[in-house]
Amino acid sequence: MSINLQWYPGHMTKARRAMEESLRLVDMIVEIRDARLPYSSANPDLAGMGQGKKRILILNKSDLADPEETEKWMAAFRQQDMIPLSMDARVRGDCTGILRLLNELAAEKKAKDLKRGIKNRPARLMVAGIPNVGKSTLINSLAGRASTKTGDKPGVTRGLQWIRLSASLELLDTPGILWPRFEEEAVGLKLALMGAIREEILPAEELALAGRKLLEERYPKALTERYGLSEDNSPAWLTELAQKQSLLQKGGEPDTARAAARFLDDLKKGKLGRITLESP
Ligand code: GDP
Repeated sequence: MSINLQWYPGHMTKARRAMEESLRLVDMIVEIRDARLPYSSANPDLAGMGQGKKRILILNKSDLADPEETEKWMAAFRQQDMIPLSMDARVRGDCTGILRLLNELAAEKKAKDLKRGIKNRPARLMVAGIPNVGKSTLINSLAGRASTKTGDKPGVTRGLQWIRLSASLELLDTPGILWPRFEEEAVGLKLALMGAIREEILPAEELALAGRKLLEERYPKALTERYGLSEDNSPAWLTELAQKQSLLQKGGEPDTARAAARFLDDLKKGKLGRITLESP
């Protein structure tokens, strides 16, 4: 399966270098993943980057994810010494939690710096993650609360803007964009199903079939509940779905292509319920 062609090796090297450059300027990294895919939406290299920096892990789009699974993932991440938070980055209220946490970490850093006699400056952070996980949305939500761009600073790479979030906290306004684990076939499939990559990795009907298989393993009732499909696992399910949803061709024949598109769209938008496609 060839997916995500935009990430040819040259681009990956460039993205990695840009990320490493930004990382040198910050004290904390806020990594965003998709709560529906806490494994598959991770960048394989990020864990090894920015050693010694504080890390906050956001499971975003938690409004679309299975709350029980999100809890399990959060517990697993805590065991790995990460600080996980789940949220909907579009909701300003959800940003209160992360802002509180960031300010606490900034205060800790300040205390440490003072002890070591280091002149205090605001703690700096950046947001990083694979495309589409909600990086810009989070930056906008955070910035919206206290949007004062601090502009270029001497000694800082030109063009980088810092947004002051509080007296002791500054946010880099450009997120670090990283590539997914696309060498794993199942990862590409899940990312496509959740709309995290737009590339068409498979024809819609095949993708729908693969999606249905995954759904059946984890949420066997979802299709029956949403569409009233029979539970007999019939290979003609797209025909049945087209009929149930009145997706018909001109001659009145069931339109399976539109049925596949409808299913995929509903899956992405959470209309088949709150779904998480992998467990810790
Ligand atoms: P980026 O590529 O990581 O910067 O992702 P964006 O911030 O552009 O978000 C990608 C899409 O996901 C946009 O359509 C957002 O509105 C949507 N989005 C972001 N955060 C959330 C969330 O927590 N829940 C839901 N349902 N959608 C979100």
